[in-house]
Amino acid sequence: MISEEGRGEKTHKKEIEEEKEFEELRKRLIKGLEFYILEERVREAMLRVPRHKFVPEYEQRAAYTDTPLDIGYGQTISAPHMVAIMCELLELSEGHKVLEIGSGSGYNAAVMGELVGKSGHVYTVERIEPLVHFARENLKETCYNNVTVILEDGSMGYSRYAPYDRITVTCAAPRIPEPLLDQLKPGGIMVIPVGNYSQELIRIKKDLDGNIHKKKKGGVVFVPLIGKYGF
Ligand code: SAH
Repeated sequence: MISEEGRGEKTHKKEIEEEKEFEELRKRLIKGLEFYILEERVREAMLRVPRHKFVPEYEQRAAYTDTPLDIGYGQTISAPHMVAIMCELLELSEGHKVLEIGSGSGYNAAVMGELVGKSGHVYTVERIEPLVHFARENLKETCYNNVTVILEDGSMGYSRYAPYDRITVTCAAPRIPEPLLDQLKPGGIMVIPVGNYSQELIRIKKDLDGNIHKKKKGGVVFVPLIGKYGF
């Protein structure tokens, strides 16, 4: 018979082995994304964030495939290649103050948290309360202290900490919400999927005079932005 203590050790060992396995799977996934990840900093950030800690337990084994996964309430965690694409379009640097609309699992916020470092901060807004708790728990467990999850209708942005160096929207808007443009710093960048059935990822640059420049960056599929300036 194994003593209680022995049993404890065994579970601990199993956990360490499992984490090693997940790390191997993560390395393999990121290697497979070479085509999308052009920046070393983004590659390193994605290697560090344990995606399996941002999905419901029954989906942990699927966390290192390049697909969106269900996180409940009809919402999904974006596919890793989409996270990479959006982070690269944002040109994130150490010290940036970032606003994300659509926290979901908190995974994308964690990757951005890596990229902005301790001197930066990510404010992420979610409208579904249980997902706010889910994202907060996931970020706490993985120790991302530079990410704050806020329960709000993010279609109006979040004026309290504005203006932001970067704004990213991880749900599709019918049109670019005015408040988000207002809350973007001159010199800042925003990435947002726009459209209904056919959606396009748009990168917006606000120049130092406050003029807006938009560029289409390809077709995408996101869940809808619901709210005052959404659907
Ligand atoms: N970035 C997330 C994926 C988000 S899925 C991740 O890494 O897991 C899109 C999310 O946007 C959903 O959780 C949805 O509830 C949220 N959402 C939709 N409309 C919103 C709004 N007006 N304000 C805040 N969040 C919104």
